[in-house]
Amino acid sequence: MKARGGGPSELVRQLGAAILGAACFALAFALAATISAMRPLEAPADSPPGAAPSTDHLKGIDDVVPIASYTLSAKLDANTHAVTASGEIRFKNASSRAVDHLFLHLYMNAFEHERTVFRRKSGSGMRGEDVVETSGSIVVESLSWKEQGTGDIFPHDAHTPNDVDDRTDILVPLPRAIEPNEEAIFEVRFRTNLPSVALRAGYSDSFHMVAQWFPKLAKLEPDGTWAHFPYERFSEFYSNYGDYDVTIDVPSTFDVGATGSLASDERIGERRVLRFTQRAVGDFAFAAWDGFAEATRQADGVAIRCLFPRGQDRAASIELEAAARGLAYYGDKFGPYPYDQLTIVHPPSGAGEAGGMEYPTLITTGGGPWQALVPARVLEVLTLHELAHQWFYGIVGTNENASPFLDEGLTSYATERALVATYGEDSLVDVLPFPVSLAELERASQLGSYDRAPVATRAGGFESGSDYARLVYSRAATILRTLDGAFDDAGLRSLGAYARTNRFAHPNLSNLVDAIREQGGDEAAAFAEQAFSTRASADFVVTSIENQRDGDAYRRDVTIERRGTLEVPVTVELVDEAGVETRVQWDGRGASTTLTTRGGSPVRTVLVDPERRILVDESRSNDALSLTPHAFAPRTLVLSSFAAALMLHAVAP
Ligand SMILES: [Zn+2]
Repeated sequence: MKARGGGPSELVRQLGAAILGAACFALAFALAATISAMRPLEAPADSPPGAAPSTDHLKGIDDVVPIASYTLSAKLDANTHAVTASGEIRFKNASSRAVDHLFLHLYMNAFEHERTVFRRKSGSGMRGEDVVETSGSIVVESLSWKEQGTGDIFPHDAHTPNDVDDRTDILVPLPRAIEPNEEAIFEVRFRTNLPSVALRAGYSDSFHMVAQWFPKLAKLEPDGTWAHFPYERFSEFYSNYGDYDVTIDVPSTFDVGATGSLASDERIGERRVLRFTQRAVGDFAFAAWDGFAEATRQADGVAIRCLFPRGQDRAASIELEAAARGLAYYGDKFGPYPYDQLTIVHPPSGAGEAGGMEYPTLITTGGGPWQALVPARVLEVLTLHELAHQWFYGIVGTNENASPFLDEGLTSYATERALVATYGEDSLVDVLPFPVSLAELERASQLGSYDRAPVATRAGGFESGSDYARLVYSRAATILRTLDGAFDDAGLRSLGAYARTNRFAHPNLSNLVDAIREQGGDEAAAFAEQAFSTRASADFVVTSIENQRDGDAYRRDVTIERRGTLEVPVTVELVDEAGVETRVQWDGRGASTTLTTRGGSPVRTVLVDPERRILVDESRSNDALSLTPHAFAPRTLVLSSFAAALMLHAVAP
């Protein structure tokens, strides 16, 4: 889903606040800026220790057994904004049990009226203005089981189980069970009426974003049950992999960007008929418009195509560059991108809600012409975020309804790492007196969110869009960053192992924790499990410094407390009167510790986490204690990220 909580406009708002904050704080932090400007320039480096896992055994698309495949022929009426379609759904019962019913997701029915599950839930703090000027719906005209010669078996009066106001999750009884390993082909005819583009899909003038548009099987689990759910505001994705073959008939003046590779493109009178095919994906979306310009680029054997509003060439070139860098980075860290092409759709300004979305091999960006000119890498972040979803939900097919953070949180984290690795440290805004990193922005946005709900909450379990955005995106990313900081880059290494092991599979939190244990050890796994699954928090406080003469030397006792129950190891730096620095490690167990050292002079200053590795630390204002009045904790201001943190702390909502 959207880049960050709230998508492009929200990101721009936050960046605007950051830039404004920067201006306000520029004087106060001139010192910090000066020091940070003195940092040596280094080439971006982002290699985890140790050799990268071998990639030669990784699954490719030809290793994927198709379970839910679709051959569809769709015709777009650009005047009525309706798609009429027919075709076949090929389903293989890959479970261990006979299946006597299907679940079909009819997501476009979320826009039928205001009482649907989707529209009942407030989106406050997250994407989706509640303006649906024209309603949308999907009408299944018929569904029949081809080999059985059944007539129409679709239950036309059915609604979502236990919810008469919603028709997005429909149980279809079968005349007989489909046995394990049996394949069944269903013929389907349907008509999708697109809503005005207000929430991810729909139309705006002649622009059409056609997503969640066909009757789609829910996900069949290995035990023969269906993982099915109504179209909820904060989740939509979970499906089996399959092969898609979709023919799209549009007015001849239209261009189409779609999932998959273009197999044919014919003009027939006033119409244009394009066919797209793709193996081993879990969904299919397309955009059609007569206002697109096109730019292309090759990157590592992947053909990248960007469709964008005419005149926004600058945005297109930024997005193509970011996608090329992202494909290389993510491919290296999380296993190669397995498809031949990637399509970027930059919707026109009037269709902003179609932007910032991910579908297999197709991502959408967004923003008006001015956005390419702002002094922050908004388009790069958007592109890298949506591209990271090709792994975290696409190639690694998690259940977004049950565990949205495995989708958005891992993606937010991957975006941070990719931005740093490919554009340089603190590269979100780098024209300020001091730069801002995406990690610090995420950290600032999640402060105080820990007691709202555990990060690993199902999509429907968040009280507000703001809780969802702060926990699922920002806190999850901040936890993974802390894994990196506290456990030798264990966040990145674990995600690499997790993505490779679960390529074209459907893992859950315990699979992620397994990877963290394998890559970072038991302590790292315990931290991650507690941080993701509970409301535990951590706030380190230096509470006392005591120096006692002991013969020729001093016994120095420093007491550190951790408020909150989230256990994470941390480094403590002591500086004595002679300026000698000593670093001591606290394993983070228990609520407090007294660290005792001996030295030639008394300790004057103590700083917890001098390198700012523990991003889950709720407050940094209590991380330093000095016996010398008005002294800055040494090193504290050297780190530009600290200045950025203060700035963001001041402007964060
Ligand atoms: Zn997202």
